[in-house]
Amino acid sequence: MTTLKPGKIIIISAPSGCGKSTIINELLRRGEIDMEFSVSATSRPPREGEINGKHYFFMTEQEFRDAIAADAFVEYEEVYPGRFYGTLRSEVERRCAEGHNVILDIDVKGGVRVKKMFGDKALSLFIMPPSVDELRRRLEKRGTDTPEAIAQRVGKAEFELGFADDYDKCVINDNLDTAIALTDSIIKEFIRQ
Ligand code: 5GP
Repeated sequence: MTTLKPGKIIIISAPSGCGKSTIINELLRRGEIDMEFSVSATSRPPREGEINGKHYFFMTEQEFRDAIAADAFVEYEEVYPGRFYGTLRSEVERRCAEGHNVILDIDVKGGVRVKKMFGDKALSLFIMPPSVDELRRRLEKRGTDTPEAIAQRVGKAEFELGFADDYDKCVINDNLDTAIALTDSIIKEFIRQ
């Protein structure tokens, strides 16, 4: 009989527009690292193309509140006003118990909280833009947001960047391939320990 080693937790946070999802998706696509994506619950409506159970478990606000009352979350945050996001115990605990590593894409407050909860069993990684000005330029170039929405995202990014020191490691996404390679090696090293 094989004894499975309990899995570890990899927390990734970043201001919006820093390429976090691209980096996570690329590492999962390569499949070199034994890690499974923890699908969060959210009370925000699905965006076009998002699949329930794959990108998020979509809930009404009432369902989300019931899940809080039932102690279904490891952590949860109201990331945007009226929009709740939470890490489900069922996603994390079963996978870890089976010996798999779990990757969490969560906001800065949730990230800091989960790191405190799991200590050395967790690696917290912060993806940063080269600068706030560069982040603004990228959001403008992407062209999906109004000037007001860009100003709001940039303001939030400035707030979120204040949490970078609370993370174990920071990766600056100046060049995507380099950022992916660095994230890959940091995670692999953590898992080997
Ligand atoms: P989006 O709505 O763009 O998918 O996500 C908005 C933010 O919510 C992102 O920063 C994402 O990392 C964060 N988020 C997603 N799931 C969770 C979660 O389970 N807990 C927390 N605290 N934040 C989450």
